[in-house]
Amino acid sequence: MTYRSVNPYDGKVLKTFDDITDVALERTVTQACRAFTGNWSGWSIAQRAQVLRNAATLMRERAEELARYVTLEMGKLINEARGEVSLSADILEYYADNGDAFLAPQPLRVSEGEAMVENAPMGVIFGVEPWNFPYYQLARVAGPSLILGNVLIIKHASNVPQCAQAFEKILSDAGAPAGVYTNVFASKEQVAKLIADPRIKAVALTGSEAAGATVAAQAGKHLKKSTMELGGSDAFIVLEDADMQRAVSWGVWGRMNNTGQCCIAAKRFIVVDAVADEFLRHFKASLSQLTPGDPLDAKTTLGPLSSESALQELLKQVEGAVQGGATVLLGGKRLARPGAFIEASILTDIAPGNPAFYQEFFGPVALFFRVKSEEEAIALANDSPFGLGGSVFTRDIERGKQVARQISTGMVFVNQATWTAPDLPFGGIKNSGYGRELAELGMQEFVNKKLIRVSATMPEPEFPVA
Ligand code: NAP
Repeated sequence: MTYRSVNPYDGKVLKTFDDITDVALERTVTQACRAFTGNWSGWSIAQRAQVLRNAATLMRERAEELARYVTLEMGKLINEARGEVSLSADILEYYADNGDAFLAPQPLRVSEGEAMVENAPMGVIFGVEPWNFPYYQLARVAGPSLILGNVLIIKHASNVPQCAQAFEKILSDAGAPAGVYTNVFASKEQVAKLIADPRIKAVALTGSEAAGATVAAQAGKHLKKSTMELGGSDAFIVLEDADMQRAVSWGVWGRMNNTGQCCIAAKRFIVVDAVADEFLRHFKASLSQLTPGDPLDAKTTLGPLSSESALQELLKQVEGAVQGGATVLLGGKRLARPGAFIEASILTDIAPGNPAFYQEFFGPVALFFRVKSEEEAIALANDSPFGLGGSVFTRDIERGKQVARQISTGMVFVNQATWTAPDLPFGGIKNSGYGRELAELGMQEFVNKKLIRVSATMPEPEFPVA
């Protein structure tokens, strides 16, 4: 059985779900097509906005229940889970509020007559989503797609099926007609079949490089537009003129938020020599203070990883790093207690050639690098197969912006760890994928930019007409 809720805090199986049958999947696609052509794409923007607004309200009303599913299924600290619910509601509301402006036809400056680009929906969009932010990832796809008039079929990660169903129910209860948003417990084979289906017009995936490469190839084979939001190994650069307390507190948050399981987590700490010892002393002391425990208990500050297999994978990476010459400055081991817990960890002495040098560590393991100068920090930050986010700490904002411009990623934050908001475009370059989600840019991905032209002077072509 692929879809299972297993509590990573104690390993207990909470619920299991059957994969969707091929017959039910076919019914889902038919219903989605009917929803698109039958009504949803023909509704006014205001009507679609109202559904998103209702959904945001329901998310806030059901916040406790929704947050609890997240914590039970993937181990997120309960307060962070509450924050995610609230952020997801904000995203839905953001697209409801801005739909009119984002969808307004764009008149073109033409030499004569009239021409405009209108924003037409594409049809049924298929989303493949990860477990690390079980609602936020869905809201990022649902907000822009639904306001535009597209409809969605979503395959969520196999370990968050209750979250997947809860979000689907929110949209249905909010007034989305049947077929506008459908969750499917699909197998990988069914994912491939869906992508090949001519009724599916585009594919959005958020997940690992491996999943991205597979799904992007399938989409490409069938000439479908796709967006890929993949992994990252964000640099967190601290320059000699940084506000040290600010750098340390954002560093701790940037690495430990969601127990380190964020694509945009601060993963590589690159600190100039002049302040490296000071940063490391405070950073290590702060990570040492974290208290492991039940993620449902608001006092817990170190939760479990999302699953036993995620823990095993991370421990293997730490072992590989050490064999490759890294030093464990802090942690590095499984915690001696039930559940998928690893100590908050810091690895240093990671030289090029060490497998860790180019890997993404998806958990609370910080890679620490000491550099001589700003130039060396930028060069090291850019020496990565990934290009998602990054941050730079300096009291000189202009300097921060200059450094940010030289970092080859999709997002760079000055004096803050990389983070997200409904009105900030999100996405990466290189192996972190392509395309953007959120903000207005996020609504420009699965849209038919349709030209409508009315000439005032164009004569009839000189061609014999019977
Ligand atoms: P994952 O294994 O790639 O899973 C993501 C989704 O893809 C799941 O629904 C998964 O389904 C599905 N999937 C995996 N392999 C597939 C295949 N061959 N064909 C079709 N679907 C497939 O990723 P994860 O480990 O859950 O998530 C962590 C990764 O996501 C990290 O690398 C992280 O950085 C990245 N991420 C990126 C962003 C971003 O916006 N850039 C945001 C969050 C996470 P199953 O669960 O059924 O395997």
